[in-house]
This record gives sequence, C-alpha cells and structure tokens, in this order.
Amino acid sequence: MTAVKFNLASAGYCEAKRSHALSKASNQTIKFYATYAHIEHPIHGHILFDTGYTRRFYEFTKKYPFKIYARVTKVYVNEEDEAKNVLKTKGIYPNDIKFIIISHFHADHIGGLRDFPNAEFICSDVAFQDVRGRKGFFALKKGFIPSLMPEEFQSRTKFLSFDTSTKEVDGLGPVIDLFNDESILICQLDGHAKGQIGALLNADKKILLISDAAWLKENYADLHLPNPIVRLFFDSWSDFKKSLHKVHTYHKTHPETLIIPCHCEETINELIYRK
Ligand SMILES: [Zn+2]
Repeated sequence: MTAVKFNLASAGYCEAKRSHALSKASNQTIKFYATYAHIEHPIHGHILFDTGYTRRFYEFTKKYPFKIYARVTKVYVNEEDEAKNVLKTKGIYPNDIKFIIISHFHADHIGGLRDFPNAEFICSDVAFQDVRGRKGFFALKKGFIPSLMPEEFQSRTKFLSFDTSTKEVDGLGPVIDLFNDESILICQLDGHAKGQIGALLNADKKILLISDAAWLKENYADLHLPNPIVRLFFDSWSDFKKSLHKVHTYHKTHPETLIIPCHCEETINELIYRK
C-alpha cells in the first residue's frame, strides 16, 4: 500500500448562511472556503483534488445568465489566493501538476482547471455527461460555468465508471483504485451534484475527502440535514441523503479517518495551508 503526502489549502471563499447548511441553525453568515487538496504521490507526482476559485469567476459572471450566479453567491478571491500562485510559493509550478481529480463541476471546484497545462483530469463519467454541452441557463441550472473548462478537456480526461469497479471499501461501497496501489481510492458521493466523487487517501493517516457530500461536520456526524431550501441547487435530495448516511456510517465505523467536507471551516482551520 503506497502512502501519499497530503496538504489542504483554499482558493477564495463565498458567503453562506449557517441556517442553510444546517436546518434550524442561526442565520449567521459563514465563510465557505473553496478548499482543494494537494497530494504528492511518490511515483505519479503532484496531484490536486479540485482547484477552488480563481478570478475567472468574476470575468465569466459579468453577463447574463451567469450574472445571476454571482448575485446568489458572493465570492471573494484574489490573485494570491489562486491555487497556482499558492503552489508557486512552495516551489511547485503549474507544469508540475500531473493530475487533477474533479469532485464535481461547480465553479468553486473547477475554477483553476485552465491553470495547469500538463494535468490529466480525472472525473466521473456520469458527472461529465450531466454538464457536457450545456450552455446558458441550462448550464447555470447545474451551477456550471462552461468557460471555466479548458478547450481540450475531453482529450485530457480519464473518465471513471464505477460499473466495472471490482473493489469495495467497507461502508463506502464500490471504489476505483486510481493507481492500483491503494494510495487513492475514489468513491461515489452522489446527490449534491450528479456523479460527485470523493477520495480516500492513504496519507500519514487515512483521509476521506467528501467534497460537498456534507457542508459542515454536523451534517455527517449528527445526520443534521441542511435546510430543505438547498434542494433547489442539488441534483437529487434522496441521493444526497444516501451519501450523507454513507459518510455518517463510515465515520462511526472508522473514527480514526479524518473526514474533510470541502467547506467546513471547523474541519479545515487546523489543516489549511496559509501563507
Ligand atoms: Zn458543489
């Protein structure tokens, strides 16, 4: 079993209401950091799990219908927050990134895809088919900004299908062993977005990146659901609940695994790399 090194950073954030992330919670405004993971594999090199926001979000939401996205989601990101610039401060240059695992195609996860010209992308086939070719309102409905996608996306991408997966992880169901060395196992976390994936990393401890399968720790630890109003932005509320139960059960049976919901400030505060 190969071990990887793991770092977490954030590229910008948006504002959200605590009462949306947790039903019946206070109406307090909270920060949803757009985190991404930087993984170092001893053979396959530098890998990202998502990318966070970039300033392209502002550029591509100037016109309708994407202007609506910027109105609904107040985003804060500046040049020095962007993943490519944070990585440079650690001596890692855009060409050094060999793979980018895309959990799903919302703007806070794919904002930096265009910054890494050598990266091979990895995403679920189902997730891509759900956004593929969508434009205008049809894209906006999916929280997808097509201009964030590199032109040659399809030829640079490995599309994962779980139909042929032969491995299972107790509690997580079928997984795809990305490099066949158990360093990174990709799991299915449908619901928030169609075909959303997470990753179980074999780092100095086990780390489960769950993207938006939960927004805050309370969601999966206590099975405390978000406000049902957020259904409007979700692909499937029933699949979301199934995935949340999956993470909850995994947490109960593997308490030693560090579970990281992409936007949970409490979880990421201790881990995050800050300049
Ligand atoms: Zn999302």
